[in-house]
Amino acid sequence: MSNHKIIASNFKTNHTRASTRDYVEALDRGMRDIGYSEEVFLFPPATALDAFETESAIRIGAQNAYPTVKGSFTGEIGLEQLGEFAIETVLIGHSERRHILGESQAFIAKKFAWFKEQGFTIFYCIGEPLEVREAGDEAVRRYLVEQLEGIDTGYEKLVVAYEPVWAIGTGKTATPELIEKTHAVIKRLCDRPLLYGGSVKPSNIEEVLKVPGCDGALIGTASWEVSSMISMLEISEKLKTEN
Ligand code: PEP
Repeated sequence: MSNHKIIASNFKTNHTRASTRDYVEALDRGMRDIGYSEEVFLFPPATALDAFETESAIRIGAQNAYPTVKGSFTGEIGLEQLGEFAIETVLIGHSERRHILGESQAFIAKKFAWFKEQGFTIFYCIGEPLEVREAGDEAVRRYLVEQLEGIDTGYEKLVVAYEPVWAIGTGKTATPELIEKTHAVIKRLCDRPLLYGGSVKPSNIEEVLKVPGCDGALIGTASWEVSSMISMLEISEKLKTEN
């Protein structure tokens, strides 16, 4: 059985068009140097989307898009804009879009259905805020069930990311025990590749990727520096050959 892990980087509102190009070039070189032949997913800001030509399997995805081909949706991008760069991967349900931008589950489900219809690979994020975690396991389970409402959990191009809100960008990573326990709950609800996200970095990625039921990592802060991203890929590659 392949021990390959899925590694993805979410730039959020970081990097320019020029620095993204430099990043992709350096990542392409770095992946070749360490012999990393699997796909790596990058989600740059909308202004930096491009059809980068790389030797390594770097897949570019959109952090967000509106469920439309084109139209009057000020500030949004649709299929026409993504198609210009042959982008077929989108991130949906990230906690910052849920909690800062106020996206409802109904809207998120509508986006999901639309991009599924277009055959996109969908990275779908779920995860509980601190007060829900503190309310206990059953409260967390119920919260995660709600975040899967209206989502076709059998979609073959779906990758799920469990990202506890209290661990995102805070430096506080969930413990391996908590990741394992929560991933087991999610796997019962949705049997798709399941990544962990929340303050993953070079110093902890090994223990995160070793968690039973963890199929990879979605990384924010620690992936913005390309050398740090390459270090994490190297660790993932080493684990693959260890097993
Ligand atoms: C994210 O936003 O998807 C994320 C996991 O961020 P960070 O790694 O910074 O916690």
